[in-house]
Amino acid sequence: MMDRLFLTAVLVCSLTSCSTLSQKQIKNTLQTSTQATTLERPKLVVGIVVDQMRYDYLTKFYSRFKDGGFKRLMNDGFNATNNHFNFAPTYTAPGHASVYTGTSPMNNGIIGNDWYDKFEKKSVYNAGDDAYEPVGTTAAEGKMSPRKLLTTTITDELELHTQGRSKVIGISIKDRGAIIPAGHAADAAYWFYGKDEGAFISSTFYMNTLPQWVQDFNASGTALSYFREWDTMYPIETYTASGTDLNDYEKPPRGKETATFPYHLATLSPQNRGYDLIKATPYGNSIVADFALAALKNEQLGTHADPDFLAISFSSTDYIGHQYGVNSVEIEDTYLRLDNDLERLLNAFDMQVGKGNYTVFLTADHGAVDNPAYLQSRKINAGYFDERSFKKELNEAVNAQFKVDGIIENISNDQIFFDHEVTKKANLNENDIQDFIAGHSITDSHIAYVYTRHALMNTSFVNGTGRLVQNGFNMRLSGDVVYVLAPGFIDYSMTGSTHGSPQSYDTHVPLLMYGFGIKKGTTAARVEVVDIAPTIATILKIAFPNGCTGNPIQAALQN
Ligand code: ZN
Ligand code: ZN
Repeated sequence: MMDRLFLTAVLVCSLTSCSTLSQKQIKNTLQTSTQATTLERPKLVVGIVVDQMRYDYLTKFYSRFKDGGFKRLMNDGFNATNNHFNFAPTYTAPGHASVYTGTSPMNNGIIGNDWYDKFEKKSVYNAGDDAYEPVGTTAAEGKMSPRKLLTTTITDELELHTQGRSKVIGISIKDRGAIIPAGHAADAAYWFYGKDEGAFISSTFYMNTLPQWVQDFNASGTALSYFREWDTMYPIETYTASGTDLNDYEKPPRGKETATFPYHLATLSPQNRGYDLIKATPYGNSIVADFALAALKNEQLGTHADPDFLAISFSSTDYIGHQYGVNSVEIEDTYLRLDNDLERLLNAFDMQVGKGNYTVFLTADHGAVDNPAYLQSRKINAGYFDERSFKKELNEAVNAQFKVDGIIENISNDQIFFDHEVTKKANLNENDIQDFIAGHSITDSHIAYVYTRHALMNTSFVNGTGRLVQNGFNMRLSGDVVYVLAPGFIDYSMTGSTHGSPQSYDTHVPLLMYGFGIKKGTTAARVEVVDIAPTIATILKIAFPNGCTGNPIQAALQN
């Protein structure tokens, strides 16, 4: 109040040409007054999610990283080496949602990439939304929004805090990798549409037409320029962190006999859905970096009075992991190339925003399992679960036990959904059915744990797998029984890697933080992915996302 009275006096004085204070003195007084009441914030926050990045990729490939990419974040920033997802299923949409909402599917409602909607009685996609139209394409891949995300993101909270003055932009190859991080109140989310277009697109949830710079980027021929050869960056015999290039655990692209270098993209693209082929090569990451640099420049991010937020998700690491596996030369080469793309981005942030004026965090949306057939070749307990025969056999057992057909309506994402009309009509106690399924399923050697809805709603699991399953269980949306496969066992093809479990290979991901507000250092104390959003909120001095269950990582914060 004192300040305001003083300012009023100064203003009145200036309006009446008061002679006791010169214009410059007035200006200085106003400036001092503003400085005293303005909090220090970064000019730009850059969130980077690397899709399917295991923690140990940082250490496996460390000696071959250059100084300006991963190593710059690791050595000049804060490295949390024991960072985990605190829930299952560890998929892309729930993973991104957890990073940006600071909570788990139990609150944010993103219980899978696709899930069975028991109210609509159909499978739904996390970002799919028929209420919105594509922008920049006519393809259905543009009919997207973040409306299934039930809680706010750190990016939403920044927009609310600054009355929408902050620019928030999400960019990824995958729609969900751009849409979920950007949040509900975003200025834009852009994702890559392949096939015969090779363009960054959006939806009417954000805008009615693409900005001119996006149209220019799409017309520039950048996507076409990536139809080049993919060979290893260095002589192939130097890739000693990986297995041999030719092995039984990888799947070649269509039109190629072996999953071995080099890959001629121009030759292979017609048989591999055109521009979609770029997604499963390191060039998918490069074009995301190119597009992020175009956004940085054209939207003048980090040069405004309020902080801006650039959310980037690199998806190609996931496509390549699924196709070639954790132990492939393809993965190693992809990370060495991503290191170069990171360096390009960091250098551009230095130039436009200035070293020390921006904050970066880098994490992943989940890890990945080593190919089980490869693990078996190394005498490790691992293998494959045949979900189709499990479903068939379980259905028969349940129907025989309760003498009614059709009790199980759907099995997906390792969850079993009942048809409640059938159980009600037959006057069955659903707790009995849940318990029967739990007892029956646990006799399968591929299954390690089974949790019933009754247990998940009436017990609080404080540690172990139960806690992770409970955090991933949304009371309204999730199924009636949840099962967890044994470590090293997956329901997947014999080639490549996948993810989704509560095991450490899927939950343990990098967390690097760097720049404004971040202390240089490292910790091996356990932190969780839900802690990232409140840590960034603390640096931005804004409210936590509204469903946040994490805590700021004190050790990473300056002062
Ligand atoms: Zn993913
Ligand atoms: Zn994946």
